[in-house]
Amino acid sequence: AMQSHHARDIVSRRLAGINPSETVAAAARMSAMKAAGRDVIALTSGSPDFDTPEHVRQAATLAIERGETRYTDVKGTAELRRAIAAKFERDSGIRYELDEIMASTGAKQVIYNAMLATINPGDEAIIPAPCWVSYPDIVGLAEGKPVIVPCKAESGFKLQAAQLEVAITPKTRWLILNNPCNPTGAVYTKSDLRPLCDVLLRHPDILILCDDIYEKIVYGTAKPATIVEVEPKLKDRTVTVNGCSKAYAMTGWRLGFCGAPRELITEMTKLQGQSTSPASSIGQAAALAALTGPQDVVTMMAQSYKERRDLALDILRNAPGLDCRVPDGAFYLFPSVRACFGRTSGKGRQIEDDIGLAAALAEEEGVGVVCGTAFLSPGHVRMSYVIDRESLQEACRRMVRFFERMTPR
Ligand code: PLP
Repeated sequence: AMQSHHARDIVSRRLAGINPSETVAAAARMSAMKAAGRDVIALTSGSPDFDTPEHVRQAATLAIERGETRYTDVKGTAELRRAIAAKFERDSGIRYELDEIMASTGAKQVIYNAMLATINPGDEAIIPAPCWVSYPDIVGLAEGKPVIVPCKAESGFKLQAAQLEVAITPKTRWLILNNPCNPTGAVYTKSDLRPLCDVLLRHPDILILCDDIYEKIVYGTAKPATIVEVEPKLKDRTVTVNGCSKAYAMTGWRLGFCGAPRELITEMTKLQGQSTSPASSIGQAAALAALTGPQDVVTMMAQSYKERRDLALDILRNAPGLDCRVPDGAFYLFPSVRACFGRTSGKGRQIEDDIGLAAALAEEEGVGVVCGTAFLSPGHVRMSYVIDRESLQEACRRMVRFFERMTPR
């Protein structure tokens, strides 16, 4: 029966304006090219390429053997929430009680819970851009209005206090911060966050979502801070989001968590109880092992990303028309490609924007990147360097060739 209806007839207004994730779509296009026999290298992944650490996998196996295979408390087991509370205290000096902690099916669900629990139609969420693709769409699904604030490369792609002040209206419900940032790798330190906290203190109705999922993937140049750590007075209206996906190479386990005001946890628990219920019991057991076990695996992985970042930057330095900042965290490069606009590629494609550039690069060199437009930041592309060194090297060399072959201005 579904097939006889056009999508327009069955889809809700809520979903109609929502885009499929462009990072997923770009990866799918590269897979299709590969299946068609093309020699492609996809720099589109947002998933660490390491296996989940062995002690974590063992803990999960043990949980299965022990029969820890039933529903848990909707918020997560008390044991896991204790480990999450200990993590927040250890890493950020923030003390959360157990009823201020909640585990969900990925950080994505935490964000979804937070938005759905608080946004009324038309409420605004301030989102500094470049931003992760999903924030505007999650806000949209909650019938809120994303207010995109473009941040300049010259300010390290970081939101400035004056920009925040200007973006605030009586309808502002949320500020969404992502630190380190996907896609730019920008890291907000304590001194970056201080002026933003001062603005927020003057606007007591605004809630703050601090998505720190890349916290552990940093390169020693700047230490990421989180809002509540910088300004404890904002604790009663901040959701501190984190999870296991990126730090512990656990994207498939689907385990994210947050610290948040008790009242909001209660509401998000209600919502989660009517949607997914608790996160997987096996994922929770794995997360417990990740958070309480040895942490040297985390630094080892971050070190490997750093080496690959430097490898890529070293080659791309020679690509004319590609302007790349050195990211302080996460595992992406986010170069400007504006210098290529209005020029013609080696195979005669006129490059007008980042979407066209990404398409030409895929067609002519088999290299997959995600257009900056997907991150609300046209004029750039995002390249992920979580891929084996040889492929990364080859992809970067092909990119240099692509840019060298472009007609001069
Ligand atoms: N937040 C950001 C900024 C991300 O890039 C991602 C994943 O790509 C997530 C959240 C989602 O993480 P999870 O796998 O925990 O849902």
